Amino acid sequence: MDLSFSPAEELFRAECRSWLEANVPRPALPSGDTRAGFAAHLEWERTLFDARYSVVSWPREYGGREASLWEWLIFEEEYYAAGAPQRVTQNGIFLLAPTIFEFGTQEQKDDVLPRMAAGEHTWCQGWSEPNAGSDLAGIQSRATRDEPRGGWRLSGQKTWTTRGAFCTHLFGLFRSDPQAERHRGLTYFLVALDSPGITVRPVERLDGDEGFAEVFFDDVFVPDADVLGEPNEGWAVAMATTGSERGLTLRSPGRFLATARRLIDLASAHGDEFDETRRDRLVSAWIDAEAYRWQTFWTVTRAAHGVAAGAESSMVKVFWSELDIELHELALDLLGPHAELLDGDDAAWMKGYEFALAGPIYAGTNEIQRNVIAERVLGLPRK
Ligand SMILES: Cc1cc2nc3c(=O)[nH]c(=O)nc-3n(C[C@H](O)[C@H](O)[C@H](O)COP(=O)(O)OP(=O)(O)OC[C@H]3O[C@@H](n4cnc5c(N)ncnc54)[C@H](O)[C@@H]3O)c2cc1C
Repeated sequence: MDLSFSPAEELFRAECRSWLEANVPRPALPSGDTRAGFAAHLEWERTLFDARYSVVSWPREYGGREASLWEWLIFEEEYYAAGAPQRVTQNGIFLLAPTIFEFGTQEQKDDVLPRMAAGEHTWCQGWSEPNAGSDLAGIQSRATRDEPRGGWRLSGQKTWTTRGAFCTHLFGLFRSDPQAERHRGLTYFLVALDSPGITVRPVERLDGDEGFAEVFFDDVFVPDADVLGEPNEGWAVAMATTGSERGLTLRSPGRFLATARRLIDLASAHGDEFDETRRDRLVSAWIDAEAYRWQTFWTVTRAAHGVAAGAESSMVKVFWSELDIELHELALDLLGPHAELLDGDDAAWMKGYEFALAGPIYAGTNEIQRNVIAERVLGLPRK
């Protein structure tokens, strides 16, 4: 087995590295979960797009480079290693786009993907509701048929919509057949947030950023052309999005490898406090970041042979979310009281820690993932 990258892939890595070194914004951008920070991030993402680095694995006509999944992984490693900003377009390019490639009509691909790649249209995820989070099939927001106009009318409320206050579009699940069994009778819609009848209300997080929004729908018209997949079959489409969220695309190994690297640098700078227990934790966290990289190679190898990721994406999600917390907890431990300073080079660790704590909640809570692992991977009985 040859585990090395090919000369062409190494060349691609070198090209990415030198472009990123020359172009990554310095100093780091403000949080993308604030209005000003979001705008600054979008400007950066448009720079990426102009250089054809915003969606490297996509077809050329949509702004990509037709890079292989391996090259995409290489790009991601270099992206995070260069300290480049988190992508505020991530819910579009990493969650919705793979679903559009799989289920979209040609018109939807041609319409949605180039604008998404260019950062002209930004997408948020409208799934959770006040009474439906883990129990996603419990959603109550409705879609009723508007036959004369050839479309649907949406009513209800979505919540915890990441960057909903700043995005231009939302992809969401609505109940289109209230008589059907819970997992049927749902439809997946693509909605412009400036449609008449939509109210977006920002929700301030504990750290003061407007990272979330509530989105209210009051008889909002959406044409048939903006249904993704078949009406009433939205659950299957949504599960494809979920697979991307837990598995391959949303959290690539590059993110955790770069954090582990930064942690090693931090530990080197704090040599005095670096006792044996901390050294063991550091080595173990670094090994886990490397293990996640190799596990992803396995997933990509199987994908290249046409094997879709299944319930094991739940194991991956538990793994990366817990790894992220451990990496950040160790950094705070090393920083001691300095960890709480909100300015300076090390301030990013506290912000990163606060976000890492959300990892076991978003993309389906880790309790739910453990249920999936128990039932679908281990074959244990439901009760
Ligand atoms: C940072 C962040 C970003 C998010 N972004 C979005 C977004 O963009 N769009 C969107 O739609 N949603 C988003 N969410 C919402 C997220 O999907 C939900 O918070 C999550 O699905 C859990 O739902 P809930 O909050 O209603 O908690 P609940 O479902 O009420 O769960 C509460 C607790 O009970 C546990 N629990 C529930 N059911 C079971 C069970 N059957 N077995 C064992 N334990 C169980 C859960 O694990 C959890 O600990 C985001 C959340 C966070 C934290």
